Amino acid sequence: MKFNYYMPTRIVAGADCLRENAAMLAGLGKRAFVMTGGKSAAASGALADLEAALKQAGLAWKHFAGVKPNPSLQDVRAAAAEARAFGADCVLAIGGGSPMDAAKAVAVLAAGEVSDQDLLGKRAFDAVLPLAAVPTTSGTGSEVTQYSILTNDALETKSFLNAEQVFPRIAFLDARYTLGLPRGVTAATVVDALSHAVESYLAVRSTPIGRIFALESLRTMAPILEPLAAGAELGLDQRERLLYASTLAGVVISQSGTTAVHAMGYSLTYFKGVDHGAANGLLMGEYLRFVARERAADVGLLLGALGLPSVDALAALLARLVPPAPLSPAEVAKFAAIAIKAGNIQNTNPKPSLEDLENILRKSLVK
Ligand code: NAP
Ligand code: FE
Repeated sequence: MKFNYYMPTRIVAGADCLRENAAMLAGLGKRAFVMTGGKSAAASGALADLEAALKQAGLAWKHFAGVKPNPSLQDVRAAAAEARAFGADCVLAIGGGSPMDAAKAVAVLAAGEVSDQDLLGKRAFDAVLPLAAVPTTSGTGSEVTQYSILTNDALETKSFLNAEQVFPRIAFLDARYTLGLPRGVTAATVVDALSHAVESYLAVRSTPIGRIFALESLRTMAPILEPLAAGAELGLDQRERLLYASTLAGVVISQSGTTAVHAMGYSLTYFKGVDHGAANGLLMGEYLRFVARERAADVGLLLGALGLPSVDALAALLARLVPPAPLSPAEVAKFAAIAIKAGNIQNTNPKPSLEDLENILRKSLVK
């Protein structure tokens, strides 16, 4: 058995974990650059808690608000210039994957001159500012990964920064911050987490420890999927499960990465504006049918963890969680041609051909 497991993020979970563990922030630095999205950081109460904790720990901070969904290379460069001007020595993020990923790129770009090519290509940098993350969605797992996914207009897709130095030092998981998540964002983000667990489990780089986390992630979210699809309001207990499931799935992708579903989903987001998690959900059923042709037992195990009898049942459930996004045949050809070049195709088992990707996209989305 050969594997290599490294996940250095301290995970602190529970109601009020930020204020209760304020002293941990002192280990990050003296001047924090606090990155958030538009409104939810303040509305969820997370920003007030973080500011109180920073004060208690004796750090100065600057709040950078307005990280947009799917941040681009230009966006993170602009933010990094502000971080430098402030003299930041650490970066904190509150939000979904977008602010957390932007913070990771800023941690690199504020610490030194790095070209776009090196940012996306190098696995280690001379210096990176320490980071901590407070997720307010339960989907990306970015609080425990070494990835930052950035919109890359030059390639018309999303590209990865992938460096162990950007693993957050601390992830603060307080599900109260996710109580106000609208149903659509809740559904798209839980489907992203589901996709992480499923894809990583099946990945070429799948590991024995990761598979434990993946199955547990699916078991943890399983009882909430049907109520969510039916439009039920979720309580704190259910929100805690979703956040835990999403962090577990994040740990798995930190080890094993994602596969063809994410590779194809990036085009749905880039060209069609489909939410990241929803894009994965639209493709999941056909991807699993493709994988099951050679690996029916593995697919069966994942369905078992979700408590579902078949891929058809999972596809039907996903169709109630995320809205449709019809494609034209020309879009299918274009998106497959972009996806086949993505690194995560090499991580897909069985490895799909260009034609396989076209089939998955067509069967999923051409109606
Ligand atoms: P997001 O893009 O961070 O946020 C989506 C929306 O949700 C925003 O409008 C945001 O509003 C809102 N929102 C966030 N928290 C909220 C709350 N508690 N209450 C109400 N609204 C809230 O969404 P995401 O799905 O979490 O992240 C997607 C990004 O993560 C994509 O760029 C994707 O590629 C990336 N990703 C990264 C990884 C990784 O390993 N690093 C893995 C998967 C995906 P505000 O602007 O007001 O905050
Ligand atoms: Fe994802």
